[in-house]
Amino acid sequence: MAKPILVVGGGPAGLAAAHSLASVGRDCILVEKEDRLGGAPILSGYHKLVPSGEHAKDAIGGMVDRVVGNDRITVHTSSKVSTFDGEPGNFTAEIDGVGSVEVESAILCTGFTHFDSLNKPEWGFGTYPDVVSTTQVEQMMSSGAGIKCPSDGRTPKRVAILLCVGSRDRQIGREWCSKICCTVSANMAMEIREELPDCHVYIYYMDIRTFGLYETKYYWKSQEEFKVKYIKARIAEVTSDGERLIVKGEDTLVKRPITIPFDMVVHAIGMDPNVDNARIAKTFGVQLEQHGYIGEGNTYGALNQTSRPGVLVAGSATGPETIDDSIAQGTAAAMTALQQHSSAA
Ligand SMILES: Cc1cc2nc3c(=O)[nH]c(=O)nc-3n(C[C@H](O)[C@H](O)[C@H](O)COP(=O)(O)OP(=O)(O)OC[C@H]3O[C@@H](n4cnc5c(N)ncnc54)[C@H](O)[C@@H]3O)c2cc1C
Ligand code: SF4
Repeated sequence: MAKPILVVGGGPAGLAAAHSLASVGRDCILVEKEDRLGGAPILSGYHKLVPSGEHAKDAIGGMVDRVVGNDRITVHTSSKVSTFDGEPGNFTAEIDGVGSVEVESAILCTGFTHFDSLNKPEWGFGTYPDVVSTTQVEQMMSSGAGIKCPSDGRTPKRVAILLCVGSRDRQIGREWCSKICCTVSANMAMEIREELPDCHVYIYYMDIRTFGLYETKYYWKSQEEFKVKYIKARIAEVTSDGERLIVKGEDTLVKRPITIPFDMVVHAIGMDPNVDNARIAKTFGVQLEQHGYIGEGNTYGALNQTSRPGVLVAGSATGPETIDDSIAQGTAAAMTALQQHSSAA
């Protein structure tokens, strides 16, 4: 009988991989370090997802239910893999609190870590309570609490969203573009305008990367239908005049200094490599790429390979990814794992 396939990480990529394997009759073991499945969209309480507009708890919650209810998938939450030895087709994994299991291959779907804005102190996070991150605004909306200034609970009349916080910033060692935050921010700006029609929303940007079809659905729509204002700027600092937050910088189109007051400032935080990656790489014997994400092999030969045969990788563990692409990669990794088995058989 074929050995099960190990899937590590129960976010969108891992849920897709596990479900794909089970749907063709393969057993798999899904190991998740947190006490719940769902990955960032569930654990961080995202509100409505782009581009579907569905609530995260319904869309990703549906993926979780499909996995939890499947007899072919054994789920271990609050667990990690501590050792992983052997050869393709014949690995032994030690799962904390469970013991050792024999598996045919492994798919790493261990995702990313949200950028911690405390690493960008000059933009006010951690100093002023009304400087918040996109995840905090997602939680305000998904919990039904509504958008309120954390300092005193008032409804903001002016909100600034600062893009590229913790991305495209060489000074703090984060050179990459996090890919989805322009789109998420344009969508968030529209949601704020919908909930608070009297609130003015400004987006400060270096470049706008609402890639592909998102340009129409988010960038233009947010300006034309929702009157969101875009300012191309280099931000110097976020301070306070005692009453309101002050965003200071340079408008890089007209090359003039700009100082604008706001009630709330939102950091559109990026996607860092999983803080656990050094340990994951050591445990599974795989290499990381130069930024600290899990390295991928030759995409054209076979998708989702790492540097170690029999260990595959999918989703934002490989670098910033959207949910749709993470799901696609999880499904593709399952197919690669099956192909390897059938060619070995
Ligand atoms: C503010 C914000 C909003 C976003 N909104 C959207 C959106 O609307 N639409 C969109 O397409 N994308 C969005 N994204 C991107 C989205 O979060 C990712 O595309 C998605 O979460 C990637 O899924 P994943 O399964 O690869 O990783 P994750 O969601 O990070 O899941 C990884 C899982 O692995 C687990 N894990 C980690 N390490 C280990 C370990 N050592 N052992 C076991 N388990 C482990 C984690 O606990 C987690 O459950 C957003 C990103 C941000 C920052
Ligand atoms: S997607 Fe937009 S906000 Fe995010 S890092 Fe890229 S350019 Fe910056």
